[in-house]
Amino acid sequence: MKTLIQNGTVLTTENELQCDVLIVDDKIAAVGVGLSKEGVDKIIDAQGKYVMPGGIDQHVHYSFVYKGSKVRGFETSNAAAVGGTTTVVEFVNQQQGKGLIESIEAYKSSDVDGIAMVDYAFHVVMTDPRPEVIEEIPKLAEAGYPTLKLFLAYKGQFFHADDEAVINALTAGKQAGITIMVHAENADMVDYLTKKLIGEGKTGTYYHAASRPPIVEAEATRRVIYLAEMANAPIYIVHVTCKEALEEIKAAYQRGLSVYGETCAHYLLFDESVLDLPNFEGAKYVCSPALRPKEHQQYLWEAIDKGWLNAVSSDHCGFDFAYQKHLGYGEGKSFADIPNGAPSVQNRIHALWTYGVCTGKLSKQRFVDVISTSPAKVNGLTQKGHIAAGYDADIILFDPNYRGVMGVENSLEGVDYSIYEAMEQIGRVETVLLRGEVIVENAQYVGKKGQGRLIKAKPFGSAYDKYKA
Ligand SMILES: [Zn+2]
Repeated sequence: MKTLIQNGTVLTTENELQCDVLIVDDKIAAVGVGLSKEGVDKIIDAQGKYVMPGGIDQHVHYSFVYKGSKVRGFETSNAAAVGGTTTVVEFVNQQQGKGLIESIEAYKSSDVDGIAMVDYAFHVVMTDPRPEVIEEIPKLAEAGYPTLKLFLAYKGQFFHADDEAVINALTAGKQAGITIMVHAENADMVDYLTKKLIGEGKTGTYYHAASRPPIVEAEATRRVIYLAEMANAPIYIVHVTCKEALEEIKAAYQRGLSVYGETCAHYLLFDESVLDLPNFEGAKYVCSPALRPKEHQQYLWEAIDKGWLNAVSSDHCGFDFAYQKHLGYGEGKSFADIPNGAPSVQNRIHALWTYGVCTGKLSKQRFVDVISTSPAKVNGLTQKGHIAAGYDADIILFDPNYRGVMGVENSLEGVDYSIYEAMEQIGRVETVLLRGEVIVENAQYVGKKGQGRLIKAKPFGSAYDKYKA
């Protein structure tokens, strides 16, 4: 099967060029001007459209359970597709008493295979750092799951990790090129503040932010950077949200350390004031780390522009409002009972284009890098995230002239709200190809359930760049 995408403007991290893209079966075969139509089965006219690599969302939760309540799963991953994301990387918790690879593979066969509508890879969340589990870490490389996350936050939950677990993971992982990722918030500080606020009767949604202020994130970020320095290993910090944490990362760069990080679309676009919305609507925005005062946003935009943070992810978490978010509502309940997380996988790319590229905060090249190319490199998805011969034909055609409004009405996320409700949208993903097959046409999902495939990732992702020489 040969497909030719003609007359589009190919956008990569390097440049933009009016040229054609030839796809043979599932791979990009050629990129160039005036490519021959000979033997081509299908021509896609991309006149007036940008042709970009499919998005890589390296931070999604399709299996997260919070206080007994599970998010929407891979059966809603067509939402990623219509949002221009062709690969997601899912965080899978290690099950108690089970191994790391065993936990991933059990989840994969029960909840992902035959269901996923975009390609997928996995990060394992180490929850049970017994010696035999630490010993298993290097084996993740060969299994195709070379990224491991630890939650420094969430005191008292089974997935909370202490510093010893972080040190052991860094040390055990580095020879095999396993990238250690951390959710950096000081669990004891959050626990103390949560109890204090609830004791003072401050239980409303807004106090979620007060229970985990920027210093909580800054402290944990600084600490894990020192742990990584001691282990002489790179580290990746997920969802960086504030100026103080960024300053720790920048200082680490200046010391020559390999400290990488991402932020998420909602930290760039929303501030903590939405947590105060009436009728419990603030609960829709309860996620951790918490949304910040508005002044932090300019630092986050600068960080992705300058490359101090290298990805913008969704941290997609499909909890509904009517039931799941209301677990924190009513007599005796508080912000601490609200499931953490918000749906965002469908809007990540559109939101970043509208509020980043169209406002001049982000160049189109940086845009492509943070939504696709860089997360592909971080995660060892070496055949994804770029438009060049040899790469998987995961391609989006983007119409920059579209004008519309985001909201739950057009959502495939399977939940009853959108944090982006009624926000203006400029530009739209019109067509999406997943390994050469059209899965989105005229902005509608036309693919098949189960079409997504496991992508076995390679170890020594880009956080290891300085260690490879
Ligand atoms: Zn997350």
